[in-house]
Amino acid sequence: MELIKNYLIRGKIVCETGLHIGGLSEALKIGGTDSPVIMNRMTNKPYIPGSSIKGKMRSLLELKHGNLWLHPDGKVHSCKDLNCNLCVSFGRSATDDVKSGPTRLIVRDSHPTLETIEKWDNNDDVLHGTEVKGENVLNRLTSSANPRFIERVPAGSAFGFEMVFSIYDPADEDRLKLVFEAMTLLEDNYLGGYGSRGSGKITFSDIELLEKISDDYKTGKDWHPYEKVSGADSVHEILERL
Ligand SMILES: [Zn+2]
Repeated sequence: MELIKNYLIRGKIVCETGLHIGGLSEALKIGGTDSPVIMNRMTNKPYIPGSSIKGKMRSLLELKHGNLWLHPDGKVHSCKDLNCNLCVSFGRSATDDVKSGPTRLIVRDSHPTLETIEKWDNNDDVLHGTEVKGENVLNRLTSSANPRFIERVPAGSAFGFEMVFSIYDPADEDRLKLVFEAMTLLEDNYLGGYGSRGSGKITFSDIELLEKISDDYKTGKDWHPYEKVSGADSVHEILERL
């Protein structure tokens, strides 16, 4: 098995509604909200962990292709099939001991864009990239309200994202489509928590699909556009061309 090429998928994740990706409970004491968002400790700004994006993409694929990949108990799918497109692309648990090579998809952490940080800094209602949303839970018998406070990254915020997809086997070219399929599913679902109550609607924008072939690593040639999708900059357009 040998590396044939790498693809780089990059662009922005734009929050169409407030985004809540849960942070550490110890932050609860400091922030004072019931449900804080995850923060980069160095910058004190929220970020989106690559594992959150990848995990959500995987779970949406498992649901969509339920006959193939949905675990009867709702657990994460993992199998011993050497050619399972989901396991080869998104990874399998080490205990399955199947030699299908490295996990093809790597998803980096997404950090806010400079424009977004500037926007946060100029908005008095936004502290450390978050706003606080109060929600009332009504007691069904007494109608007394039980307010709780949830931190969200405000709508309109944008995060830069990057994923690398490696091709080790000609069959991997077809697996790349699975990544874009998952991205389109995610746009019609939600990222993070409180999705059924409106949080976490995102779109992928300004998407680029670039490539580096194996020899480019020897010569130092940088990422260059993948000709097959040139001019396309949305998930849908790229998926149609792949
Ligand atoms: Zn599998």
